[in-house]
Amino acid sequence: MTAPESSRPPSGATALRTHLCGTLGPDDVGARVTVCGWVAKRREHGEHLAFLDLRDHTGVVQCVVPGTVDVRSEYVLAVTGEVRRRPEGTVNPDLPTGDVELGDCAVEVLNPAEPPPFVVDDRVEVDEVVRLRHRYVDLRRPRMQANLRLRAGVNRALRAAMDRQGFVEVETPLLWAPTPEGAREFTVPSRLHPGAAYVLPQSPQLAKQLLMVAGLDRYYQFARCLRDEDLRADRQFEFTQLDLEASFVDQDDVLAVVAEAVLDAAEAATGERPGPVPRLTWAEALDRYGTDKPDLRFGMELCELGAVFARTGFRAFAAPCVKGIVVGEGASLTRSRLDVLTERAQALGAKGLAWFRVTGGEGGPGLESPVAKFLSDEEQTGLLQATGAGPGDLVLVVADEHRLACTVLGALRTELGGRPVSEGPYRFLWVVDFPLFDGVDDQGHPVAAHHPFTMPHPDDLDLLESDPAAVRSRAYDLVLNGWELGSGSVRVHRADIQRRIFTALGIAEDEAASRFGFLLGAFRYGAPPHAGFAVGIDRLVAIFAGEDSIREVIAFPKTQSGWDPMTDAPKPLAPGALADLGLKPLPRRD
Ligand code: ASP
Repeated sequence: MTAPESSRPPSGATALRTHLCGTLGPDDVGARVTVCGWVAKRREHGEHLAFLDLRDHTGVVQCVVPGTVDVRSEYVLAVTGEVRRRPEGTVNPDLPTGDVELGDCAVEVLNPAEPPPFVVDDRVEVDEVVRLRHRYVDLRRPRMQANLRLRAGVNRALRAAMDRQGFVEVETPLLWAPTPEGAREFTVPSRLHPGAAYVLPQSPQLAKQLLMVAGLDRYYQFARCLRDEDLRADRQFEFTQLDLEASFVDQDDVLAVVAEAVLDAAEAATGERPGPVPRLTWAEALDRYGTDKPDLRFGMELCELGAVFARTGFRAFAAPCVKGIVVGEGASLTRSRLDVLTERAQALGAKGLAWFRVTGGEGGPGLESPVAKFLSDEEQTGLLQATGAGPGDLVLVVADEHRLACTVLGALRTELGGRPVSEGPYRFLWVVDFPLFDGVDDQGHPVAAHHPFTMPHPDDLDLLESDPAAVRSRAYDLVLNGWELGSGSVRVHRADIQRRIFTALGIAEDEAASRFGFLLGAFRYGAPPHAGFAVGIDRLVAIFAGEDSIREVIAFPKTQSGWDPMTDAPKPLAPGALADLGLKPLPRRD
């Protein structure tokens, strides 16, 4: 039996070449080989000798050509020569092929090239628009080649893990109907049905639930998801998720399946398998880290100071919640830096930020702060004890409503202690028991935190009508180094619970029927208990690739403004195209 494609050593031999540039080494000395690639560099040595560095996706090899050659950077060549050891003193230890060179080369120009818009070199900084306009040149850079190949390796590991765990790959439509997941969707006007439109799916959520009703049992897909939202370093209009759904399962089953897949991917990408993925409830994550996506690579946990200031005479601390963080060695932060932190806390919604420099002295540590004089000795000692802060540290305190105090300190924690997301180690985390609802809409109805098909926590079902804000859900997120990598939930499969959730959300029966009647209709024909998840592949790969922007692991991304400098998309519609679609442009409402 032949080995599968991926495990066969990639000799790279084709009709045009015998070897790959970057793979040549001392073992090949004496062989006459042909390599193909792009001219990375060219140097003349008088009239008798030319040196060419030829590059393909595996690396660069030096070719020595007798006489002169009429080639320039990025010309496409086939070079035939003999592998020989480099003469003493010319070995290049920085190059994997640096022990050898191709001697006595014959050069065939396969295609000339115009001078490239920028040098194909990882060390050269190039403006992003220029890179994206000539992405095909940008992708020749070793770093970009490595990123795309790493991505393929991650996909391979994920696919193998899903197959091994009994999941079936099914493709679902891109031309689809709205999905109630909160993001703005892209609309595709229909030519055959003027005035009507498809919607590009923000995820295959409803399709995969229908596949469960259809008895697929375990589904997955590398799903392209489309969301018309503002772009950021970790967000593009289109992105890829490993989307999955399973029947007759509970939360623990899904978490186990997903953990196995992402840990396999981590191992494939980095060579090391991270340990088991710990779990925090949403409430704990907020309380300890001030965020639902804590970065566990560093401590700086939020300290509870409510008991210390329970009877305080300092009005600013007489709040439902008083919490603090310790910035190790932070006492040296300048006054102007502390003012910036205070402004930042206020911008995040806090009334203020109290800071305390911990000083050392004969009588033990003390506090230096504009507000220290308002605190009793007992409170000052209590603050030091509760936070564990020592001389040289800085303590930041916020007193406010619980959620606000936590999120403000959480943001400061990340800003002061955080590191680039892609820096190891890789600390995965499950956050479970998210609230079912988050905030209220204009009409005072609670808003679904995940989506309206998320199962309430069984212990909180009775609160659905009386105290919806307190209802936890069976929704969970996967977090890696402070980035949300994906979300999922156990779904509502029973009509009675679904009806109660719609009522809480203020979705009338006829509205539910018109928006997702096809799903509710299907549920009448035997919906199994089911649950699922979706892992953001772009973010996962970016982190493993050491990149802080997902654009670096996507072949053809858009700029921050949603523009593709290479194709110039989006472009104005050609005359007549609007009419074909039954559309008429209106003046813009900016
Ligand atoms: N559809 C959800 C999302 O895209 C994932 C899920 O609940 O399975 O975030």
